[in-house]
This record gives sequence, structure tokens and C-alpha cells, in this order.
Amino acid sequence: MRYISTRGQAPALNFEDVVLAGLASDGGLYVPENLPRFTQEEIASWAGLPYHELAFRVMRPFVAGSIPDADFKKILEETYAVFAHSAVAPLRQLNGNEWVLELFHGPTLAFKDFALQLLGRLLDYLLARRNERVVILGATSGDTGSAAIEGCKACDNVDIFIMHPHNRVSEVQRRQMTTILGDNIHNLAIEGNFDDCQEMVKASFADQGFLKGTRLVAVNSINWARIMAQIVYYFHAALQLGGPARSIAFSVPTGNFGDIFAGYLARNMGLPISQLIVATNRNDILHRFMSGNQYVKDTLHPTLSPSMDIMVSSNFERLLFDLHGRNGAAIAQLMETFKQGGGFSVEQDRWTEARKLFDSLAVSDEETCQTIAQVYAECGELLDPHTAIGVKAARECRRNLATPMVILGTAHPVKFPEAVEQAGIGKAPELPPHLADLFQRPERFSVLANDLQAVQGFVAAHGNRGKPL
Ligand SMILES: *Cc1c(COP(=O)(O)O)cnc(C)c1O
Repeated sequence: MRYISTRGQAPALNFEDVVLAGLASDGGLYVPENLPRFTQEEIASWAGLPYHELAFRVMRPFVAGSIPDADFKKILEETYAVFAHSAVAPLRQLNGNEWVLELFHGPTLAFKDFALQLLGRLLDYLLARRNERVVILGATSGDTGSAAIEGCKACDNVDIFIMHPHNRVSEVQRRQMTTILGDNIHNLAIEGNFDDCQEMVKASFADQGFLKGTRLVAVNSINWARIMAQIVYYFHAALQLGGPARSIAFSVPTGNFGDIFAGYLARNMGLPISQLIVATNRNDILHRFMSGNQYVKDTLHPTLSPSMDIMVSSNFERLLFDLHGRNGAAIAQLMETFKQGGGFSVEQDRWTEARKLFDSLAVSDEETCQTIAQVYAECGELLDPHTAIGVKAARECRRNLATPMVILGTAHPVKFPEAVEQAGIGKAPELPPHLADLFQRPERFSVLANDLQAVQGFVAAHGNRGKPL
């Protein structure tokens, strides 16, 4: 399988190089040159397979030529064995023909484990084969950091440095990162805010001299392997609910457009999906596009669903590429306009094409809390605020009651106790057994000044399993 850039100028790469590359050299994102397509008979024949075997069948074409079947099978079996539920991604019924796909049974209780548990293992496998080591440098305000650290903790060939703003992440989220101990795990508490952390990541990617030749790898949501891993659970959910013989609708709590883009790909690979709902919080750039064909940057609004607090949706460029007939030059131009501070609209027929599949809703904090309370009263299910936004959007935007509606349950409610408390149901979510002693576990992190030299110096001094590079 070959991958091409959405901006048309970077060289085509194979799977292995795409995983290690992150962003394309022309600033674009990598997408498959040709998407695999499965027949209905083929998809139907996968009913009842264990999750990791379904994952093998769905993802095999994407890694073809880079990873032999037997090795890929083994990696997938190990990846999904760490999930705490035997179904890996169980479905829970809320209401008539309305379901939550529980994607929070992984080690860090959010859907990001599906991709990052795989990415860590893939990196280690590919690096061992190349006899190389890499450094991962990332910034997090919450979910991604812990999922990335959990995904890489067992990697022999990766040192991971995750910055978080000192004293500005919740205690659960901090502890999920800082209680994972290992020579190759480095939590940096930066005396600054999240944007300061992100700026230092960007600056470090732009000038990697401090790494003395070691490669820096990005594990943020633009990494193709993360999107790929997320395609699988759309097939998994549909197969439980009568697909592919019938169509399914999905509502997806959305920030960077990675998770819902995976659903779009599942559909283009042959899975009958009749509707995809973009569910956002007040940070609603995607809702403004879907409802009014305006892609315009706004300021950042902190909400009760912080993992969707974004100003720009990085993976949206991948959809725009398809909407523009895969014309890289057109996308490069559109993105340049956007960067110059302008927003944009796309031509009417392109927007209409998108709206055949996508609907959207922006949900306020107040409505989020109301939905948590409402669903709890209906069926005793305690939702996290991101999932609640998905439920609200599903109920508002649903096109056809006869089509099963699946809401992606992106996080466990215990990660976001503030929203649950504000919902006023008088019950606090509990940590699941494998994290029950989280507040007793020892923590390890280093507090660093908000200073690029200090951060890069730290990485250089510890980037080789805690020893200097
Ligand atoms: C990351 C995240 C999202 C948003 O996913 P995108 O792929 O960025 O759209 C939604 N909910 C939770 C809990 C998350 O951690």
C-alpha cells in the first residue's frame, strides 16, 4: 500500500515510512493512495470474529508489503488483550434502537487506547527491524498523553517525553501519566500553559539538532496508524447490529476529526453507514462548516468536555482532499488561505456532497449536563461529558428511527468527575478495578521552566532509556 500527501508535493511513502513520518514534508497529511474495498459477502463472513481477528482483516491491506501477516496478527492479538472487557468494544443499549459503543475499557479509559496501544507496538516492531531508536515528544492537556505513555511503556526502542502544564491538568489525568514508571518514560510538568507546551513541540520538530541524530516521531492524531486502528470498531459495531445487511448510523464526539474520519473511511471501504453525526461542544468550527459551509477559526472556549476543546480540526484536511477530487494543489491553496487568517467556504456542490453523509450539532455545557442526567434517569447509565454530547447530537439529528444509531462512548465518566457532579445525579463515578489504587500509586515527573532550552536539554540528557543520547 502506498500513501500520498493531501497537498500533493511530498513523495509517496509505504506504510512503514508513513508511521514514522507523521506530517508529510509539504505540510499535508498522508492518506492511502487507493482505499481497499470489501464486498458485502466478505464483511458478512466476519460476524462473530474476536476483535483482534476482525482487526486483522480490516487493516491487513493498509500494512501490505510492510508487515508479514503472521507478525501483524501477533501484534494485534497482544494489543487488544490488554483491554479489560472480553468484547474489547461492547455495545450497550440505551433506548429503542440506540446504542453506546463503549470504547473506554482500555488502560487509560478513553478510546485513544485503541490506536495508541497499537501504535506503540507497531513502532517498536518496525524500529527493532531497522535497528533504530526514536524519541517521542508530545504535549497534552489530558487524554492523549496517558494513552501514548501506556502505549509505549513496553517499547524497547522508544523514549517518550510528554509535557503537561504544571498544576493545570486534573489529578486523575496527571496520575494516569505520572504513575506509569519506566526508564523510557518521562513526564515533564512545564511551568506554563498547554499552548506553551505545544509550541515547544513544534519548535523541536522544526529543528531537531538537539537530538544528535535520533529521530523524533509524532503520535498526535494526524499519525495515519491511529486513524487506521479506529476504522475497525465501526465494522465491529455494525456486525453486532445486523450489518452489513442493514445500514447503521453513528454519532461521534468530535475534536480533531480523527475518530469520525475513520468512520467515513469504513463506509468507503464498503460498510453500509447511512449517517455520520459530528457532535461538538462549544468549540464548533466543524458544526459551522457542516451547517453553514463556513470553516472559520474562533477563539478557544474551555468546556466540561476538554478533550474536544480545539480551534482547528487537524484531520479535516483529509476529508477536504476527497471533497476536492483529491486535488493536492487545491488543498494546499485552501490551507494557505486558512493560515493567512481567512476562513473559507467550499463550492456548493462539494458541500452538498458532504452533507449527504454528515450532520452536526454543537452542544453547550448545560445541555451536556442535562443529557448526563436524562440518560441516567432513563436507564442508569452514567455517561462521560464527551459521550453525552454524542447522545444529544444523535437524538437531535437522527434521520431514520429504523436505522440503528450507535454513539461512540469515547471516555469513562470517572475521568471527568466535574461534569458528572454538575449533572446533579448524586452519584460519583468509580474507578474500575484495574485503576482502583490510582491515588495510592507513586508518581514520577520533573518540573521544568517554560523554556525550550531546558526541555531540549532534558530530552538530550535522558533520551536513551534515561541516559544521554
Ligand atoms: C480525543 C477525544 C475526542 C475527540 O476525538 P477526535 O478524533 O480528536 O475527533 C473525543 N472524546 C474524547 C474522550 C477524547 O479523548
